[in-house]
Amino acid sequence: MPMNRVQFQPGLSMAEFLDRYGTEAQCEAALVAARWPDGFVCPACGAGGHSSFVRGGRRYWQCTACRHQCSAISGTVFEATKLPLTRWFLAMQLLTQAKNNVAALELRRQLGVCYKTAWLVKHKLLEVMRLREQSRQLHGRVELDDAYLGGERSGGKSGRGSENKVPFLAAVQTTPEGKPIVACFAPRPFTTEAVAAFARHVLASTAHVVSDGLWCFGAVTQVGATHERIVTGGGASSAKLPQFKAINTVLGNLKTALAGTYHAFDFAKYAHRYLAEVQYRFNRRFDLAVILARLLRAAAVTPPQPLVVIRMAEVRR
Ligand SMILES: [Zn+2]
Repeated sequence: MPMNRVQFQPGLSMAEFLDRYGTEAQCEAALVAARWPDGFVCPACGAGGHSSFVRGGRRYWQCTACRHQCSAISGTVFEATKLPLTRWFLAMQLLTQAKNNVAALELRRQLGVCYKTAWLVKHKLLEVMRLREQSRQLHGRVELDDAYLGGERSGGKSGRGSENKVPFLAAVQTTPEGKPIVACFAPRPFTTEAVAAFARHVLASTAHVVSDGLWCFGAVTQVGATHERIVTGGGASSAKLPQFKAINTVLGNLKTALAGTYHAFDFAKYAHRYLAEVQYRFNRRFDLAVILARLLRAAAVTPPQPLVVIRMAEVRR
């Protein structure tokens, strides 16, 4: 049996993590390097000349040109946090190295903070992942399917249209032979309009979509994609068709990743973020050693996410 490429790659061990990011000074230096890889750039005017000073244990930069003052965290997703950066880094390590989604309760235990703080840290980092994945586009052969979050079978296909479940669309770009490459998920109802909006967002016009022929999937042609409709009997028989092997594998992984982590009422409001969490990790599954550094870079260039934004359900565009 071939070795599983994902399972057996080294990743960033907790020992290495602690060597690199064990102290506040190390974390701040890493954040500064991620935010300003070519040296300080004033967030207000773009100039590089600066002086710096330490206030309240934190380093500040002052722009020589416009006198603007900022710390490494101001203007980033970490802005105004009272939590040490070491805790944020630990959260990023746990969220990126875990095989499955990490519940806020688990994060609370690992970070040694209150639930509210753990929840907020988690959702801010998930929002970073979501924003990072927003520009992803799928090309070539793409398997498309509909599934549900919540209910008894997250990621499963039980009873289209049943209540208390969040419907979502899943698309997986594959090799011509059908091996999964990258995936996109989005909570959407199964309507022509919603599928068309999803397609506009995630499908390149070169995409060749393979689906089980749910009537609304035909809307993918509105973005110029071609659509191959494979009519199945539905249910268990369609799950075995080789044409849908990639999407079924990915949905199976998604189901495992979310199993037991969230409550149904969470899904109703935050499905977009939980799906983004799975998507972010899945699309970087071969890069476990550098995924933390990438998330740090993304967090450093993501603007502050106030509580009111974090607590808001997804705004559909
Ligand atoms: Zn300036």
